[in-house]
Amino acid sequence: MFKALVLNQEEKKTIAGIQQVDESQLPEGDVLIDVDYSSLNYKDGLAITGKGKIVRQFPMVPGIDLTGTVSESSDSRYQAGDKVVLTGWGVGEGHWGGMAEKARLKADWLVPLPSGLNGKQAMMVGTAGLTAMLCVQALVDAGVKPEAGEILVTGASGGVGSVAVTLLAQMGYQVAAVTGRIEENGELLKQLGAARVIERSVFEEPARPLEKQVWAGAVDTVGSKVLAKVLAQMDYNSAVAACGLAGGFDLPTTVMPFILRNVRLQGVDSVACPFEKRQQAWQRLTELLPTSYYEQACREVNLEGVAECAEAITNGQITGRVVIKL
Ligand code: NAP
Repeated sequence: MFKALVLNQEEKKTIAGIQQVDESQLPEGDVLIDVDYSSLNYKDGLAITGKGKIVRQFPMVPGIDLTGTVSESSDSRYQAGDKVVLTGWGVGEGHWGGMAEKARLKADWLVPLPSGLNGKQAMMVGTAGLTAMLCVQALVDAGVKPEAGEILVTGASGGVGSVAVTLLAQMGYQVAAVTGRIEENGELLKQLGAARVIERSVFEEPARPLEKQVWAGAVDTVGSKVLAKVLAQMDYNSAVAACGLAGGFDLPTTVMPFILRNVRLQGVDSVACPFEKRQQAWQRLTELLPTSYYEQACREVNLEGVAECAEAITNGQITGRVVIKL
């Protein structure tokens, strides 16, 4: 038996409770893992509170991220004792996830824990960090260079945003961070590498189709009217990497930035990111994130502390990352 956070549904309401679970109840997979850490993402918050339709069947163990040690494997790529990382692939949504002492997963979904990172650090990165790295890579692939000008990051004090600020600053970009919590997090964002911090309300004003050109690139985690405003202010030939919807999934924009300013809007998905790109991103994260990143903006809780943090992340009240110790 092992301990797990289990989600059930009663009268269309999601109920989260800690239970003892038998190994035979684990879903199918070729690798059995002793989980060391999971992490809390916005999506986990929606799943655990039931505020978003994330869970595809109940009962479900949430946790879209985990790190741990292989205890059994029928796949030649992994042996008992190997340290692995899992993010995405619908784990914690349609397949039991990381908020349990054990998980059984498909070998195809795993990445060996990159050397230079321990399990807790990998979960401080987690899906949020991987997504931030993929967004930054999307800007690099679009040809956005540090000398081109300022890069804007929205939702900057969140999981994705705070890693994006850190990575961009480490790569020599000049970063402007947008936050709705400037008093609380402005100083932290500067410590992470933001050259300036801008109040979110500035980006919530209705956007004209085209506004003054300000940004050479942008990482957007918010969507909706904030992304529309960002698009209207992009430089000629610039790029926006859009990965999130913390402010809404609509996009009240026009084609003007695309057809008159050659702006590129690049979507970013981390869930089904192919193995090679995923492994490269993990490697790059390991190289780029400074030791100071792991000392800042992280809170560690056990399974008992998850429900409260899940509520907080859905209310935009979490700064940086929450890791869960199993
Ligand atoms: P998070 O830690 O909750 O951060 C989101 C941030 O957005 C908040 O910290 C807040 O930052 C800002 N925000 C919150 N509510 C807002 C609102 N109503 N209007 C405008 N801004 C708001 O979440 P996360 O884990 O970083 O994820 C961020 C987004 O990316 C989520 O939508 C998530 O679903 C998405 N995501 C996508 C992928 C992918 O593969 N595409 C992967 C991971 C995450 P400030 O307080 O600083 O303003």
